[in-house]
Amino acid sequence: MTTPAQTPSADAPAARRLLIVGPPGAGKGTQATRIAEALAIPAISTGDIFRANVSQQTELGVLAKSYMDKGEYVPDSVTNDMVRSRLAEDDATGGFLLDGYPRTLDQVDALDAVLADLGASLDAVLLLEVDSDAVVQRLVARGAEQGRSDDTEETIRRRLEVYAEQTAPLVDVYEKRGLVRRVDGMASIDDVTAALLAALGAPDAR
Ligand code: AMP
Repeated sequence: MTTPAQTPSADAPAARRLLIVGPPGAGKGTQATRIAEALAIPAISTGDIFRANVSQQTELGVLAKSYMDKGEYVPDSVTNDMVRSRLAEDDATGGFLLDGYPRTLDQVDALDAVLADLGASLDAVLLLEVDSDAVVQRLVARGAEQGRSDDTEETIRRRLEVYAEQTAPLVDVYEKRGLVRRVDGMASIDDVTAALLAALGAPDAR
């Protein structure tokens, strides 16, 4: 069997300390769940943790909702503390897939510090590449199906702007570290999962 260039050897252990990055609507959450299951690591979504707090009406939830409903980011200090505690939990010691974090350069620095304290480092950054018109349509459809309060057209537009301004620059940072693995996020859900697993050198579990 020939192995394409840049694809890790099938014998190498799959990368296990991972980020998944992409604009809103790229399918990060769906893919994160599938990849994490295939690699037996927890998928850690900051958006999901915020939403759980919103529904439980915790103090953090009340604060987060005021930003989320406008399509803005929750302040870095709050988000960084939340991720630091989550990564210190037992299930994250053997690896994790962070979905939706880091989203700002300050969060990149904070994550570096957390990992340094844990004696760990990132293995790969999965980048889902998608067409921006298509993601708006996906998000409008998701808003109608799931009733997410930040999936209204105005908020979606703001979330895409905030992604371009604050999160897209992170790709360059991780690119310089040689960590970025780009995958076409416009393919079918199964094909995207297979491409992500291949990019990580993990067997396709299908
Ligand atoms: P998501 O489910 O990843 O699309 O996140 C939904 C919303 O949660 C975002 O639009 C932000 O308001 C908030 N959020 C999630 N992750 C972060 C983060 N890393 N930093 C700041 N805000 C975040």
